[in-house]
Amino acid sequence: MKNPVIRIKDVSKNYGSLQVLKKINLDIMPGEVVAVIGPSGSGKSTLLRCMNAIEKVSGGEIWFKEQCITDRRVDYDLLRQKVGMVFQHFNLFPHMTVMKNILLSPVKVKKQPKDLMEKKALELLKKVGLEDKKDVYPEMLSGGQKQRIAIARALAMEPEILLFDEPTSALDPEMVGEVLSTMQELARTGMTMVVVTHEMGFAREVADRVVFMDEGIIMEKGTPQQVFEETQNERVQAFLKKML
Ligand code: ADP
Ligand code: MG
Repeated sequence: MKNPVIRIKDVSKNYGSLQVLKKINLDIMPGEVVAVIGPSGSGKSTLLRCMNAIEKVSGGEIWFKEQCITDRRVDYDLLRQKVGMVFQHFNLFPHMTVMKNILLSPVKVKKQPKDLMEKKALELLKKVGLEDKKDVYPEMLSGGQKQRIAIARALAMEPEILLFDEPTSALDPEMVGEVLSTMQELARTGMTMVVVTHEMGFAREVADRVVFMDEGIIMEKGTPQQVFEETQNERVQAFLKKML
C-alpha cells in the first residue's frame, strides 16, 4: 500500500462563528485525479487552499507526505513548490511575457539556472500547445490560452501534486475544452491532481475518484460510477440533476 501524497485528518475551518469545514477526512494517493464537486459555498475552495497552507486550518491536521503542514515551522515557499495551484483567474503577471511568467518562480524562488529553465519552459509550452506565444504578453492571449500558460507555469516548479480551483469557470464556453484536454493530458502522464470543478464530464471521464461536498462535509465519495450512477443520496442526486 502506497502512502498518500496528501492526508487530510479531521480538518475543520471556522470563519468567526461560521463553520466552513467540519472534520474532513480525505487521502490523495500518488497519481490519482480527484474531482471535488458540490454546491457553491460548500467549502471546496477552502479545503483546497488548506492543502497548500494558503489558508490555516482551525482543527485537525494536513500532511504532505511525511510532513505535517498544519504545524508551525513549515517552509511555505518550499511547500508551495511541491503543492502547486492553478486558479480560476489565471493570476499571470500582466507586465511580463509568457516566458518571464514561467521563469520567474523557478529562477527566483527555486534558484534554477536560467538557461536550463528556458529550455524546460519551451518544452512545457510545447506540451500545452503554445510554444509560439513565448514572447507575448498575457493581454494578447485568450482566456483558454492564459489558463494553459498558468498550467505550464505551475508545472515549471515540478510540483508533486497540482491543485485546480475551478480552472475553467472564468472561460468563455468555447475555450473550456482546450483547458480540459490539457488537464486530461497531464492526468495521463501520472500527475497527482485535485480538481474543484463544475465540469461534470471531466469529473466523470478523467477523475479516478469524485468527492461531493455539501455544507462543509464530504457527503459522498467514490468512483465516478458510484457517485454519478449509483448514489442513493438525495442531495447528491438533486445537485447532479441540476448540473447535467
Ligand atoms: P466553495 O468553493 O465550495 O464555493 P468556499 O470554500 O469558497 O466554498 O466558501 C465556503 C464558505 O466559507 C462560504 O460560506 C463562504 O462565504 C465562506 N468563506 C470563504 N472564505 C471566507 C473568508 N475569507 N472569510 C469569511 N468567510 C469565508
Ligand atoms: Mg470555490
